[in-house]
Amino acid sequence: MSKMNRRTMLKTMAMSAAAVGGGLALNMTAPGTAEAEIKKLPAKWDETWDVIVVGSGFAGLAAAAEAAGAGAKVVILEKMPVYGGNSIINGGEYNSWDDELHLRQKLGLGDDSAEVHRKDTIKGGDFYGSPELVKILTDNATPALNWMIDDGGLKLREVVNRTGGHSNYRTHTCVEGVGRGYTEALRKIAEKRGAKLVLNTSITWIWRQNAEADSPVLGVEVKRGKKVLNLRATRALVLASGGFSRDVAMRQIYNPSLTADYNSTNHPGATGETVRYAQAVGAEAIHMAFIQLYPYAEPETGLLDAPAVYPFRGPGFGIVYVNKQGKRFVNEMERRDVVSRAEMATGMKPTFSIFNEKMILRMGTKEEVEAGLARGRFVKADSIAELATKLGVPPENLEETVKKHNQYMKDGHDPEFNRSFTKVMFPLEEGPFYGIAQWPAIHHTMGGVRINKEAQVLDIWSKPIPRFYAAGEITGGIHGTNRLGGNATPDATVFGRIAGTNAAKEKPLA
Ligand SMILES: Cc1cc2nc3c(=O)[nH]c(=O)nc-3n(C[C@H](O)[C@H](O)[C@H](O)COP(=O)(O)OP(=O)(O)OC[C@H]3O[C@@H](n4cnc5c(N)ncnc54)[C@H](O)[C@@H]3O)c2cc1C
Repeated sequence: MSKMNRRTMLKTMAMSAAAVGGGLALNMTAPGTAEAEIKKLPAKWDETWDVIVVGSGFAGLAAAAEAAGAGAKVVILEKMPVYGGNSIINGGEYNSWDDELHLRQKLGLGDDSAEVHRKDTIKGGDFYGSPELVKILTDNATPALNWMIDDGGLKLREVVNRTGGHSNYRTHTCVEGVGRGYTEALRKIAEKRGAKLVLNTSITWIWRQNAEADSPVLGVEVKRGKKVLNLRATRALVLASGGFSRDVAMRQIYNPSLTADYNSTNHPGATGETVRYAQAVGAEAIHMAFIQLYPYAEPETGLLDAPAVYPFRGPGFGIVYVNKQGKRFVNEMERRDVVSRAEMATGMKPTFSIFNEKMILRMGTKEEVEAGLARGRFVKADSIAELATKLGVPPENLEETVKKHNQYMKDGHDPEFNRSFTKVMFPLEEGPFYGIAQWPAIHHTMGGVRINKEAQVLDIWSKPIPRFYAAGEITGGIHGTNRLGGNATPDATVFGRIAGTNAAKEKPLA
């Protein structure tokens, strides 16, 4: 579009916003509607902060920590009654080619590099992810992990996994085995530096001065209880409000097949209203149709609890996936989208992961498995035939499958599914044996607002919207068609840090 056309269009939009709103509030999506009419720039502000962060997951906490560390007065707004979003319930997995304890090297798990992590990530998203943003993620995953260890007291388990779609062992786990390990570390850093966390506060609009390309974002409208308040950000707004897996209406706009019949692994607050507010003030959204299923959720509820992480951690140590007939149906080293599709193509719900005692300490802890057994999530048996009977799978089929797979591992060649083998994998020879049922559930939205290397939100002309930053699952364009498991934690942390650092550098508005 020519410069002239663009200017004319922006001017028209600004004029229509002003005309319906009686002020300069920008509302590109709903001119002339009742919604637009009430969206006048506030005459006065109820609170003023240097930096406002929306969302209290990895991205929001990391952004707040960095902004507060640079001396900004920072508030984190969270709509739910508890902090942490999807981050606090996540599986505790963090991809990084290295860490300051050098666990991979210590455990003899081969080589890796940020460069191979980068290549795997790009390939894992079918080459749709932004090469420059992926490079930032993979180059900065290790420093961000070490920062949480050094400044936040994060502790890691002595395990490193090779998970679906990764060509090396790089998936780290915090001692808690859930994302709380990282959120607590980040919350500690953020609060130590003076950031304030406010719960039960939902943002209901983003205020931008007007539709001119250089017009800044000024603050947000929020609902707190029955009160509607307007909060001003004199330096910047950081949107870190997560994905929209729980927003059935929104996900069906982009992929109508993802009906309410699907379970979701997400917390109830994972809805997409903030993407719309960002779009309404001119932000570009990208890759919205790329929505990931997690292949190993609890089949009836979609819960991704501690046991449901074992099938994800297991491929690098020899875990085997079978259908209800006790037969393998996919290469276990495959990405989540491939495994999910293969599970659904079996036409038999659920499928199962099979592992043995030896693998447990490589994937997690005995206590976690004991707790999962007590809750009926894992099934344990002394022989493969007994395990099959307990799982409701034909025993002779499972015995045959396991025998063949053990042989493939010895041969280093899988003629059925072309699985690759490493020397640290265990054959399923020695019991006790374990099984867990699994089925896909909606898990991650790869799409969202488009950002640049500085975590600035871009408008539909690819220009940064002044004083507007975003990080984490609310952003799109990084992971491509499919996010590799364990990449969201570093993504949100790394870009949260960048957003917070840059937000604090903005010169305060008078
Ligand atoms: C069960 C589960 C397990 C996972 N396991 C892993 C894993 O092991 N490794 C990995 O890499 N990834 C994992 N993921 C993905 C990863 O956890 C998420 O992508 C990541 O936590 C997103 O972080 P975030 O900070 O962007 O968003 P979130 O952590 O979701 O935080 C966003 C916050 O914004 C709040 N919010 C939303 N809208 C508003 C509003 N209007 N006003 C105010 N607040 C608002 C939400 O309530 C939420 O608290 C998992 C996801 C789930 C659901």
